[in-house]
Amino acid sequence: MKTIYLGLGSNIGDRRALLEDALQRIAASGITITKRSTIVETEPAYVLDQPRFLNMVIEAQTTLMPRALLQTLQRIEREMGRRIIVDKGPRSIDIDILFYSDIIMRTKDLTIPHALLHERRFVLEPLNEIAPQLVHPVLRKTVAELCAL
Ligand code: AMP
Repeated sequence: MKTIYLGLGSNIGDRRALLEDALQRIAASGITITKRSTIVETEPAYVLDQPRFLNMVIEAQTTLMPRALLQTLQRIEREMGRRIIVDKGPRSIDIDILFYSDIIMRTKDLTIPHALLHERRFVLEPLNEIAPQLVHPVLRKTVAELCAL
């Protein structure tokens, strides 16, 4: 079993229900959720002219290897009818792999830890609620330290 952290976001439709639906689908896919942050409402980043997001972070345990985990999460996004018309634009559900144990990997379709997590308040703040002492294996700082920057 490996400990993983996932970031979830939604800014179209019934955002809270979509997050809960995603959690149920994650829990039904060989991923055991062990902690969840509160749900926070955040301003859109990058593409500013779009609705506000609800974001949350979860801690979970899985035996899925990173690529299989990504495929599982992408299947859930597809099943939930995610359509992205504009890059970084509105989405019914977005699920990112933030950390996978203390693994560091960078391939064409998967960067772990997630490449932008340390500069995203909407990830760092919920993460700080459930894992302040977690160490970013590349930056070698705790989540609490990244959050305070
Ligand atoms: P997004 O539209 O932000 O969900 O980005 C999805 C793309 O990011 C997919 O093509 C993934 O292959 C890629 N990706 C790279 N690293 C990660 C990661 N840590 N978690 C999720 N997707 C990732």
